[in-house]
Amino acid sequence: MMFCGGAKDKDDQNVKPQKHVLCIGMACVDFVNIVKEFPLEDSDQRIQDYYWQRGGNASNNCTVLSLLSIPCEFMGVLGTEGVEASWILKDFESFNINTEHCVIKDVHCPVGTIILNMTNGTRTILFFPRDRPEMLYEDFQLKFKKDFSAYSWIHFELCSNVLEISKMIDDVLCYKNSNGQPVVSIEIEKPEFHNYNLVINKADLVFVSKDYAKSKGFANAKEAVSGFYNLCKEGAILVCAWSEQGASLCINNEVLTCPALQNIKVVDTLGAGDTFVAGFVGSLLSQRFYPTEPEHTTKIITKLEYALNYACHLAGLKCSMYGYTGLK
Ligand code: ADP
Repeated sequence: MMFCGGAKDKDDQNVKPQKHVLCIGMACVDFVNIVKEFPLEDSDQRIQDYYWQRGGNASNNCTVLSLLSIPCEFMGVLGTEGVEASWILKDFESFNINTEHCVIKDVHCPVGTIILNMTNGTRTILFFPRDRPEMLYEDFQLKFKKDFSAYSWIHFELCSNVLEISKMIDDVLCYKNSNGQPVVSIEIEKPEFHNYNLVINKADLVFVSKDYAKSKGFANAKEAVSGFYNLCKEGAILVCAWSEQGASLCINNEVLTCPALQNIKVVDTLGAGDTFVAGFVGSLLSQRFYPTEPEHTTKIITKLEYALNYACHLAGLKCSMYGYTGLK
């Protein structure tokens, strides 16, 4: 499998623009409420702080990639209705995230109300899909016309539109067969959606969430990557992050594991998984590695081990701060 990043050397940079990472999925607005203690039902209390930020997995992946100076693009349905809609677009711009292929529809964007417990960093999400704008294959086909030459990597966040995404992936794989790129990754996060078997065997890299793995009866990341691996295509990489336990990956039935970042004060775990995914992709693309080589490792550390370390490190850092901008 080829993980070609954007142009690394100077000569290359002069010849052609750096290829982008395209993240396809959902963008929403998250209204974040910071509390000292989780509220009792039917209680009335003041909270410690409040802000709103752009959310949605693919949208967050782009935020982090952009902060890592990796050129990226978000693709999804953007609404035109309500003040949140125009705010989302401006926020993408402020993070230098390209949105040129987004599908614009007369809908309201989804919104999330988040309760962040400052004592332990847990995030409780109350998600309202509203008009639930999801991408259709037809939109995707019209926008790209099967030309993916601008991208080194295409990442798909799976929602309820797995059937549509499966067709999008087929287009990308068809292009990749002749051109060697882009890398295709998918994220399986939500236990409530189905048909993941339509796509899991198509991606070069599969991220499976703790929530999904738990719903299938797995007790930790190691078990999950071993258990799911036979569903992937030959040579694929399967990664599972597991909160404070860190993360594991499997490639060719070999399992690697990395602990979570230790000795941090966890204040905000909202988007930890999205940061992890972006860190992993970013590490493979830019050779951006864990800042210091872990002491316990005397054997040759592979690119994948570095990526796993880097992703856990970055996601842990994110948990120790509010929002993402401190990751810069
Ligand atoms: P999600 O946001 O999808 O629920 P996880 O909770 O599995 O994601 O976390 C993703 C990654 O974030 C973990 O692999 C870990 O590296 C980091 N992380 C999450 N929670 C903590 C924590 N309490 N302490 C340290 N790192 C954490």
